[in-house]
Amino acid sequence: MQRTALRHSRPWLAPALIGLLYFVAAALALSVSRYEGGLAFIWGANALLMAQLMISRSATWPRTILFCAIASTAATALFGMGPVAAVPMTFVNIAEALIVALICRRFAAKGSASATGSLRLLVIFIVALSLVANVVCAVAAALIASSLTPVSFAGAWLQWYAGHVLGGLTCTPILTMLLQGDGRRWMRETSVWTKAETAGWLSLFALMTWWVFYMARYPLLFAPVLPLVIIAFRIGHLGSAASIVILAFIGGSATMAGIGPISWLPGLPGEHIQFFQLYLAFTFLLSVPVSAELNGRRRLFQMLRQSEERFRILAEHSGDVVFNLGTDGVVHYVSPSVADQIGVAPGKLIGRLALDLVSPQDRAVVVATHRRALTHGHDVHKVEFRSLMSAKAGGQWCEMVMRAILDDRGTPAGVVGTVRDISRHKALQEELQHVADCDALTGADSRRAFLGELDKEIRAVGRGARSCLLLIDIDHFKVINDRYGHAAGDEVLRAFVERLRPGVRGKDRIGRLGGEEFAILLRHADIDRASRLCERLRAMLAANPVEIGGGRVVTVTFSAGLVALEGVSTGAAMLEAADKALYRAKHSGRNCLRLAA
Ligand code: GH3
Ligand code: MG
Ligand code: MG
Repeated sequence: MQRTALRHSRPWLAPALIGLLYFVAAALALSVSRYEGGLAFIWGANALLMAQLMISRSATWPRTILFCAIASTAATALFGMGPVAAVPMTFVNIAEALIVALICRRFAAKGSASATGSLRLLVIFIVALSLVANVVCAVAAALIASSLTPVSFAGAWLQWYAGHVLGGLTCTPILTMLLQGDGRRWMRETSVWTKAETAGWLSLFALMTWWVFYMARYPLLFAPVLPLVIIAFRIGHLGSAASIVILAFIGGSATMAGIGPISWLPGLPGEHIQFFQLYLAFTFLLSVPVSAELNGRRRLFQMLRQSEERFRILAEHSGDVVFNLGTDGVVHYVSPSVADQIGVAPGKLIGRLALDLVSPQDRAVVVATHRRALTHGHDVHKVEFRSLMSAKAGGQWCEMVMRAILDDRGTPAGVVGTVRDISRHKALQEELQHVADCDALTGADSRRAFLGELDKEIRAVGRGARSCLLLIDIDHFKVINDRYGHAAGDEVLRAFVERLRPGVRGKDRIGRLGGEEFAILLRHADIDRASRLCERLRAMLAANPVEIGGGRVVTVTFSAGLVALEGVSTGAAMLEAADKALYRAKHSGRNCLRLAA
């Protein structure tokens, strides 16, 4: 918060500081490391500019460039090739940094500003620096240097190219990290032990480098490689970048002073410097990409762990049971909520067949769904079943949703899914079904339920059964309503069904088709038997008049039409035939039965 506020209130502060540091770095490089003409052997100043451009918003670029341009001009004028070369050299310097920063921004993935943080960005950075920006800029710089100093065009090109590529490679990674606060974060987040270990390895590396360049009697240039690789693995990208700076500093100063294994080689000091540059470049390429790749893997591993943790929390805190079965239906994983649902610890289910938990009557459908999930891998499959492992009488209704896990080749490796207790939902569904199937006033079957039973019976008749349909209509019911009121009419309807019930058998069904019209499905009864039954009903009604309150009683009679069910017919046709017979009964003076023609 505070830092952001500072950046907003003083937008010129950071660019001015970068400009100042640029001047110091450039002045130092020019006064200490210039050789054979106008160019420094290692040019770290531009690394600072590149690092700042890479980590900052493009809106701040002009300010940063302005300050660095002033710094570059001043440094070249005062310590380099003089005032004449200062402005053109500045243009080339700025162009180099700008080309690299633009390429990195264009091709890098969002959010990866640190060149050593990701291998991809590091590769982009190396290509932009060594194969694009400096190939072009070295030409311009060599033209200027060769026209103002005795050095040849080719010599100047090589000097510029080597100095700038090396300066960029050596310093940009560590500067990018420091500028975006990686160093501060590292100090804050790492343990004392890790800090001590880092200090130990870096000191050992510095000591080894110093010994190789200043003390050793043999050319042991390969010796610092060992601690370098250990640093890449143990400390990471920050450590790798720091060791490269240490190597450049110690090895560079020794080589420039004509000390160390490189100065033992035949040739001019300029060639020694170039050999050292090559050595440094190879050392960089050995350690920094490795640590970038390791860093990427570490981050991936962290993300994987976080995601694993997230999914574990989801599975373990879900009210539903989360499971994973093999292709053979064996339980590989089941979430802890299974203990609440069926009272069995998850550990006891691992390795068992999931089917053991399913009630035998639902096993076939569960097996079929499991097979379907395996053969149709991309779809979600659902099945309802009764669980065996329930304390509840009548079993626990469960809904299972599953989907196949496919491997790289699309072959199913098992299924994952959830099981949810739907017993309450099922009970509600059954209640609703009962309401829909039952007439609320009389308790007889509703019209819809009765017609369903009729259709089933017609199919049974088609297979050889013999059954009849009796259609009944109360005589002069309207008169009862008119004389005693609607409530009395209702009571008569209710009592009517109550009186019919003892006259029919358990397997027969009474349905209310509407108003005061009823139907009875007489199973396993021929016309004669059904006719006798009808007469018995009539007698029962006559013997039991209905009390409608106030001491009043009503004797109810009905007219009826009877039809024997035919297996080839439909429910509607049978009802129509019975209705015609009923119509004739009404016309014959009511309170009688007529058979369908
Ligand atoms: P019929 O002998 O020709 O069958 O004469 P009906 O009076 O029985 O027949 P109609 O069809 O003329 O009248 C039936 C009456 O039944 C008319 C209607 O108001 C009454 N009704 C229908 N449903 C109910 C009900 O749920 N409760 C009561 N109380 N009356 C009903
Ligand atoms: Mg009637
Ligand atoms: Mg009627």
